[in-house]
Amino acid sequence: MKIVHVASEFAPLAKAGGLGDVLLGLSRATLESGHDVTVIIPKYSSIDIDCQRVAELHDLYNGKNALTTFWKAHYQNIPLILVESDQNFFSSGKIYGEPNDCDRFGFFSKQVAHYLKRESIDLVHLHDWHTALVALLHPEVKSVLTLHNMAYARACDLATLQRIGLKEDEVKALKYRDYYSILQGGLESAEKLVAVSPTYAQEILTAELGAGFDSYLNQHKEKLTGILNGIDYTFWNPEQDGFLPAHYNLQTLSRKKKVKAALQKRLGLLSGNKLLVAFVGRLVAQKGPQLIEAAMKKIIADGGQFVLLGATSDPVIEEQFTQLKSAYRNNPNVHIELVYDEPMAHLIFAGSDMLIVPSLFEPCGLTQMIAMRYGTVPLVRRTGGLADTVFESKNGFNFVEPTEEAIFQALDRSFACWKNEPAKWQQLIANGMSEDFSWKKPQEAYADLYRGIKSNKAFL
Ligand code: ADP
Repeated sequence: MKIVHVASEFAPLAKAGGLGDVLLGLSRATLESGHDVTVIIPKYSSIDIDCQRVAELHDLYNGKNALTTFWKAHYQNIPLILVESDQNFFSSGKIYGEPNDCDRFGFFSKQVAHYLKRESIDLVHLHDWHTALVALLHPEVKSVLTLHNMAYARACDLATLQRIGLKEDEVKALKYRDYYSILQGGLESAEKLVAVSPTYAQEILTAELGAGFDSYLNQHKEKLTGILNGIDYTFWNPEQDGFLPAHYNLQTLSRKKKVKAALQKRLGLLSGNKLLVAFVGRLVAQKGPQLIEAAMKKIIADGGQFVLLGATSDPVIEEQFTQLKSAYRNNPNVHIELVYDEPMAHLIFAGSDMLIVPSLFEPCGLTQMIAMRYGTVPLVRRTGGLADTVFESKNGFNFVEPTEEAIFQALDRSFACWKNEPAKWQQLIANGMSEDFSWKKPQEAYADLYRGIKSNKAFL
């Protein structure tokens, strides 16, 4: 089958979080299973890669002629199309968070739909609201829409939809309740909807996590399924990770200590065998910043060490963690790094003993799976994909209520296990490292879904 992914991220070229990882891992696994795959993303100015111009498109944006250029490139063996607009939509260095995000991704999706009309493909696989419009504008090709995080779905105003040049009936199709939503157009037009974990597929049917789309989804449950994300086992591999000073697997686990020592040295932490607990992730309300802070203070008070790596664009959360960083700058058991740093993330996943993920909600979550692959025990809140991957006493620790009391109890259990039951701790590590979180199973589930979609064309 010829499958085209359209997305706003692709790791490591353009990555803000887990969506980028998914595009890398799923497209590689699908390619390796014998399908023909191309990934289309915006040509962000930060992307530095050899590419060749393959097509140009002239269209009106805000009533004026706009030029869109399509570039062909490869990341490793994965074919990419990078889309550049002369409207400077993707030149700020930011993937998200511009005031005109609806214009940026709406116009991008419209141009991609036009481009795809010239191509002969079997299926288009869309990701989140940023690309959902393609399903509405190119109904001739069957589409799958994966829902990575409903909370980011944006309402658009009528003026934006007119600026990007949508026709009257297209605008009408985006009307949802008393506003316009690009995601709604995708939900309606895509053949199948996939939530990124089985638990999240249930959660988005509720008012709490359905972001306003729960009643629509409840009426169209037959379209919705949950497929747990995987992680790319080439990119995330403790046996050959180029960002690590030492390599290991389950049989050579003692070498993980060298990575811990290197991490402590690099971050100026006291060396030695204290329980080293980490958090790696975007610092947004979803990730439970109050619980992270409370956990950090308890971990230090209980004799552990704490490392945080997280970037944020939320001014309140930034202030919270900037103050913490300053308050703890002379504490040799704490390190707070408020940047995006891919090599540092790898070193932390491998060098820590434990990773906390106290999310208020978490569609899938990749960091707990990455941690387990690197022999680091996860402690998570039981929600979304965290509930589908981390099990108390099997491969980690979990808690349910989003309260300090609940996370403190889970921390007490984990500290006690680490101190008093080393054999059990080793078993948690071994179980986590033995799990198969690769893209093999999810890719097969997606392939089944693709095959099941009735098309005018004969699929393989
Ligand atoms: P989300 O998709 O909500 O961001 P996930 O757990 O699904 O959360 O994926 C997070 C991905 O982003 C992981 O690959 C993680 O390592 C990476 N990541 C998040 N924050 C940072 C950071 N500050 N530096 C490096 N990598 C980060």
